[in-house]
Amino acid sequence: VKIATNREVCRGHGQCELFAPGVFTVDDDALVVLRADEIDAADEGAVNEAILHCPESAIWVERS
Ligand code: SF4
Repeated sequence: VKIATNREVCRGHGQCELFAPGVFTVDDDALVVLRADEIDAADEGAVNEAILHCPESAIWVERS
């Protein structure tokens, strides 16, 4: 599963890192950074929680 982010709309709330710290972090500008853009099935639950809790819809799953 591939993860995508849009740093243009990210507002640095950090919810993504809170729910899925293995996948998301925030940089010195408080904008989301992916630790990996591909995730294992085991991380999908945490990533889905992060997506649901991102107030800006700045992260999503890309399904091909
Ligand atoms: S929760 Fe959304 S807006 Fe907040 S840092 Fe993460 S991606 Fe950015």
